[in-house]
Amino acid sequence: MKTAARIGAVLSWRRTAPGPVVFVPTMGALHEGHAALIRKARRLAGTKGSVVVSIFVNPSQFGPKEDLSQYPRPFARDRVLCREEGADLLFHPAPAEMYARDASVMVRESSLATGLCGASRPGHFDGVCTVVAMLFHMVRPDTAVFGEKDWQQLAVIRRMVRDLGMPVKITGHPTVREEDGLALSSRNRLLTPEARRAAARIYQAMTAAAREGGSGEGRVARLRSGLLKDLAAIPGAVVDYAEILDEETLGSLKALKGGARARIFVAVRFGPVRLIDNLPVKPPR
Ligand code: AMP
Repeated sequence: MKTAARIGAVLSWRRTAPGPVVFVPTMGALHEGHAALIRKARRLAGTKGSVVVSIFVNPSQFGPKEDLSQYPRPFARDRVLCREEGADLLFHPAPAEMYARDASVMVRESSLATGLCGASRPGHFDGVCTVVAMLFHMVRPDTAVFGEKDWQQLAVIRRMVRDLGMPVKITGHPTVREEDGLALSSRNRLLTPEARRAAARIYQAMTAAAREGGSGEGRVARLRSGLLKDLAAIPGAVVDYAEILDEETLGSLKALKGGARARIFVAVRFGPVRLIDNLPVKPPR
């Protein structure tokens, strides 16, 4: 595995890299969820193709009061994981390598990015779209793999790629969870032991609502109030949002009808640590 910190090194690697090139962008502090994405990238690239992983804690997607400086950066461990999972190139630029000091162009998705995390983290998806567009220009992947854990991000990236005619295929990967259901996240390690135990109840609250919707309760307002009640009962948790939306348009739904593609979206804070998760609701046919 080659490691590159400079854009120029990526560009020259790319000129001779055997395709297909499959790309997994990350912010590092890699866990089994990221590892699953890299393994999927390896399968898609095959033995002949190339897998690129990037590790970049992107300042432009963090708000001024967010956890940019606290975000974990265990680079030596991350590099070992990338190598073991079969990456061919690890790109880990410094912020100054990516952004000119007077950078003044950004990419904005203005529909899917406005609700959920976009509402509670203003500018977040502008930062995500901009850095992903930049990385796509540098790596020029045939395919990029993103996790469904960040469902809204996946939807926004798909829209950006469609609307800007970017020649890259976007592939999703299901959410990887701990045994107790908590979605793996680099932020989980910042939870206190009590908060970590309590955080498992996010998944329990979502599965309870999904079960109810799956067994015939079609009134979204009812499902949502049950969900909110369960989340509010989690010790130490402050609910940022809890919504049941159309999973493609991220628009609101009144009722789950047959064929409705509904999904539960949740963001919960434990002190300074903000966790997000989502789960589909499949109404009976
Ligand atoms: P991050 O490092 O948090 O920016 O995540 C990098 C990529 O890994 C994104 O596409 C995430 O959606 C994905 N990812 C993070 N956690 C998980 C998880 N638990 N399961 C599946 N994918 C994940």
